[in-house]
Amino acid sequence: MRRPLIAGNWKMYKSPSQAKALIQELLPKLAGQDHCDIVLAPPFVCLAVVRDQIRSTAIRLGAQNCFWESEGAFTGEVSAPMLRDLGCEYVIIGHSERRQYFGETDETVAKKLKAAVAAELMPIFCLGETLQEREAGHCEIVVKRQLEKGLASLTPPDILRMIIAYEPIWAIGTGKTATPQMAQEVHGYLRRRLAHLYGESTAQSVRILYGGSVKPDNAADLMMRPDIDGALVGGASLQAESFTAIVSNSNQKVP
Ligand code: PEP
Repeated sequence: MRRPLIAGNWKMYKSPSQAKALIQELLPKLAGQDHCDIVLAPPFVCLAVVRDQIRSTAIRLGAQNCFWESEGAFTGEVSAPMLRDLGCEYVIIGHSERRQYFGETDETVAKKLKAAVAAELMPIFCLGETLQEREAGHCEIVVKRQLEKGLASLTPPDILRMIIAYEPIWAIGTGKTATPQMAQEVHGYLRRRLAHLYGESTAQSVRILYGGSVKPDNAADLMMRPDIDGALVGGASLQAESFTAIVSNSNQKVP
């Protein structure tokens, strides 16, 4: 059985002192919530402060992006080995906000995934369609392209280190959520594609998270679906109360 994973993407919210306050509020609330893996992905400047606060807990640290080169004259970029050295175990790659505002493409996402895996980080590989693409009936074509191009240069053992996050763009930060059934259909499709590419046993091992306006009141319903293995949570991860409620409500998967 795949262990559920709830990841909080803090986006560009929280300064280091605000991050410290949030994590101190979160820790007692998350204590004992051991039915799932919990990952927090604060902004780069907050990684060290969050790492120090979660040191003796089961919460894991993630970054929101990385560059594909290990080092060099790339002003303003941060590499995967640097993140690993800092204590990150996960990194979000290909988030739609990066594709939309920072020109990331399937090709650059593929390079970043490769760099992340090489640095022994677990990528949370985001993909998803726009509203226009969904309405045109192209959802599967789009996610298939993103999946296959993203994973193109990875080996089957690399795939086992991968976490996929299906995030329909029209549902991110908009308050609109894909219905659990809509999300399950795409998750099921992605798993079938993984099985086709890497075999059934690999496909059954990869966790596929749903992201897009996950809130305490829809988390349980989403998590009950067979191919939804957790959530990538943006807005609702910025308050201790709502993030903790999502974590507690995700225990539907536990037998
Ligand atoms: C996200 O940032 O990945 C996300 C899903 O955001 P939100 O939960 O706010 O829609």
